[in-house]
Formats: sequence, structure tokens, C-alpha cells
Amino acid sequence: MWARVLLPRQRLVSNNHLRRAIMSVPNGASKPQDRSNLVPFSSRLKEGRALAEDVWSIYNVANLPSDCINLGQGYMNFAPPKWVSEAANTALQGIAENHYSHPKGRMRLRQAIKAHYSPQFNRELDVESEILVTSGANEGQYSVFVAFLEQGDEVIMFEPFFDQYLPSVTFNGGKPVYVPLHPPKTEGKNTSNEWTIDLAELRSAITSRTKMIIVNTPHNPVGKVFTRKELEGIAALAEEFNLIVMSDEVYDCLTFDGKEHVRIATLPGMWDRTVTVGSAGKAFCATGWRVGWLIGPPSIIRPTLAATTRIVFCTTSPLQEAAAAGLEQAEQRGYFAKQRAEYAERRKILTDAFDKLGLTYTLPEGSYFILLDISNVKFPDDYPFPASVLGRGRDFRACWFIAIELGVSSIPVSEFYCEEHANIGEAYARFAFCKDTDTLKRAAERLQKLKNYIQ
Ligand code: GLN
Repeated sequence: MWARVLLPRQRLVSNNHLRRAIMSVPNGASKPQDRSNLVPFSSRLKEGRALAEDVWSIYNVANLPSDCINLGQGYMNFAPPKWVSEAANTALQGIAENHYSHPKGRMRLRQAIKAHYSPQFNRELDVESEILVTSGANEGQYSVFVAFLEQGDEVIMFEPFFDQYLPSVTFNGGKPVYVPLHPPKTEGKNTSNEWTIDLAELRSAITSRTKMIIVNTPHNPVGKVFTRKELEGIAALAEEFNLIVMSDEVYDCLTFDGKEHVRIATLPGMWDRTVTVGSAGKAFCATGWRVGWLIGPPSIIRPTLAATTRIVFCTTSPLQEAAAAGLEQAEQRGYFAKQRAEYAERRKILTDAFDKLGLTYTLPEGSYFILLDISNVKFPDDYPFPASVLGRGRDFRACWFIAIELGVSSIPVSEFYCEEHANIGEAYARFAFCKDTDTLKRAAERLQKLKNYIQ
């Protein structure tokens, strides 16, 4: 029975192979066929810069000298807290903890998220319908796009934007629409609060196809913590035009100088149209764990659950247990307050170095990135740059030059802009300060050599 069904299909397959094989062989002559590209890849990869080498791969430690200090890709050079990684070790000894979790996430983690976040959202979060654990914040956001975007739907993002948003939107048929975060106009030390949005510009970017606005606070790469007033302005437009707000708040635990982190979901009426994104990687120094979560109303979480179930089914079970332990114990250990103080100290090491150089930079009020204005840093045009940074913004070459000559890597900020506006980003290099103080001090010392290259 099966054989009868399968045979004709098998013949078809082998006929196809045969047809391809002889296609380029006129008169049966034995010309070798190019087999390197037999089947074209999907056209969706041509969108969203997906085929360009991503900035994280170019400035990966693997491509740089081994003694180069990595202030590029944002991950820590220290381990998660012992009491969190011990929970991962314990989970690895279990049975259920080593197997599939429910696609909504492990109950222990959902309970921990509920306990930790309910007071911050001024509501009792429901573990069944308002919390979804995902494979990192990235995959959570991707799943929201899968769940909500129709072909041609527009998604507004403030520019600069975290690069991953772009392909995540275009892979799902969405069209990115950019609204500027205007850079500070003065030289010297600026604060991230001086990067401003213009609500009239946001309004004029909205069309009948706009489906969603992405808010990112604290912001990567600017470090901006959006003010209540700014968020109220965005919220009013979301309400007026019936838009979903995706609020990427993965750096929520990292705000400085007493700056208040406002959750747009808590503004009047906004709960029903906002999905808030969180990350265990940032909270517990475990970016490779790929444990993130979404918090929102059932109307957003339910369809997103359907998407994530079919993308990854569930994320790593033992590491969900560890993230749960982290959230369960954080408060009693004073963990987040201590972490904030440590990061403020790390930030200061780099900003002192930039002050000493007299360079213009943005003092971040949140996240762990500092934007340094590198427009006055000069480098020889004929420097032996690798092909990967040629043909990109000037900042790609500047960052490469600084990495090789000074031994400190950073990330070129034009990658966080669309091609049309890349020239704005070219002025900046992003330095991550999620590193131990000794490393940052060594980096600060090396960076003093920039003096030799300032115009
Ligand atoms: N979020 C991190 C950063 O901005 C890493 C992003 C990534 O590697 N995809 O540096």
C-alpha cells in the first residue's frame, strides 16, 4: 500500500534530480555542473539586512587579537551570581527539569515573574494568560511579530534601534518605519535624556497600515530612559490610532542616578495594548541562557503563545528554574540595588576616561552602553581593514582601527540605523561597560591613546 503511494513520488524526485543534472549539459556532453547553489534561498532573507554580516559577528572576539579588551557585544565578563547558577546545577540533577517545559514557561518561573512584577505593573498578573516565557527577549519579540503582523503592516521604531528588530519585522512581512531619536546638539558630556523624540514626527509617521510601535527603555544603544511625559505622548498616539506597543525593557534593572523606570503598560489604558519584554540574561548576567519573558494582556499573550509554541515549543528548562530562583531571592538579597551600584561604578570608569580625553559622549541613564562621538578620531584611509568593514559606515573602520591600535573593541552605531540615516550613526562608537572594574580600568588606560588620533 505505502509502496504504491511512494513509488511515483520517488520517481518524480529522481526525475527532478536528473533534469537538474542534465539541464546545463547540452547534447549530453559531460560539462561539470555548478552544484554550489542548486536551490535558491528564500527571498525574505533579502530584506532586513539579513544577508549582510551582522555587527556582532564582525566585532566578535574571534576576529580580534586575543589581547583586545572586548567592550563590543553587550555581555558580561563575569559569571551569574553563585546562588543563581547553583539553582541551575540543582535543576540539572533533576528529572522533570531536564525535559520539555510547558510552552508558556515553567510554572515556578511564571510564579516568580508574577511575584516580582505584579507590584511594578500595579496588578496581580495571571500566570496562565498574562506571562509567557520565551527563548530570550529576541525570540519573544519575534513571536509577537509572527502573531500580529500582516503583509505590509508598518512597525514604527525609534532610530537608533536595536538591530535585531529589523529582520524580525521584515521576516514577518512587516515594514519598518523610522522615527528619529534626535542626538544632543551640544559638545562635551551629554546625558541620554538629551536624545529626544518629537511627537509631531511620531504622529506623521503613523499611517493606516501602522500596527505597532516599538519602545525600548532603557534604550540600546543610547542608554536613554524614556520619561513619563514622553511615554504619555507615545501612549496617547497608540490609543488614538489603535496600535500595539511592544515595550522592550530588558535593561529595566539598570537605571542610574535615581532615574525612574516608567513602564508604558502602567499608563492609563495602556495595559490592554502593551506587551512588555524582559530578560534573565540582563538581570542575572547570563546572556547565553536565552531566557526571556513577555508580560501583557491575554489578547496579546494568547496569539503570541501560539507562535512561540510552533517556533521553539519551549526554552531551556533548567535555566528557567535558575531564573526563577534569581527572581525569588533577588529582593531579600538586595540584589538589584547592589547590581545597580556596581554598574554605576563601572560606568564611571569609562566616563572618567572620556572626560580626560575631552571627547563628546552620552552619559547613559540606563542600560550598559556609552556612545562616544568618534567623528574627530582620525585614522589612515589605507589602514589594512578587513573586507567585512569596508563599504560600511566610517564608524565601522574607526571601531576596527581603535580595536587593533588601542586594543579596545566597541560597536559602530550606524548598524543601529537604516541605510538612509546611517550617516547619523557614523559619528558614534558604542562601548559596553558590563565588565569587571579591573578590565574597565585597563580599557580606560588604553583609550587614553586616542589623544594621538584626535583631530
Ligand atoms: N544585546 C546585546 C548588545 O546589544 C547583544 C546583541 C546580540 O548579540 N544579538 O550588545
